[in-house]
Amino acid sequence: MNSTDPLVTALSLQVADLRQLLADLQTKVHALEHDDAKKHDPGQSIKWWDLTEEARELEVARLRGWERDVLVPMLGYSLPECWPLHIPACARVESLYELWATCWLSNRTRSVLASQAEYFIRYLPQLAEEIRALCRSCEHAAPRSVTGVA
Ligand SMILES: [Zn+2]
Repeated sequence: MNSTDPLVTALSLQVADLRQLLADLQTKVHALEHDDAKKHDPGQSIKWWDLTEEARELEVARLRGWERDVLVPMLGYSLPECWPLHIPACARVESLYELWATCWLSNRTRSVLASQAEYFIRYLPQLAEEIRALCRSCEHAAPRSVTGVA
């Protein structure tokens, strides 16, 4: 048997193909491992009901920054001014932020792209409306007339 034997040639080509396949798979595994490191980690849920006043102010400031820098200019939504005074609204704003961060602070894949679309279509409009409803008839709403009649 010599190196020009058709069987040896065929096997050599198959080995070369398998080596290339292995190299491609190693590249993909490496990329996946590094993609995981770049994903946003939502961490623990905030226990709004159990925060000190100072801790709550820090969380609200962080979310207010996102509202100012992203929610209004990028996503085109505004929230009632008094949302930080309502714990149920704070929880929903935090969810909006964490969902946004998970979708936009990760590498874009088909799955992430689908999640972004779902965020626009379902989560953002629904949660924004719930936040507005929570603040719609609260005591922080627009000033009433002098007689106290709305
Ligand atoms: Zn209010």
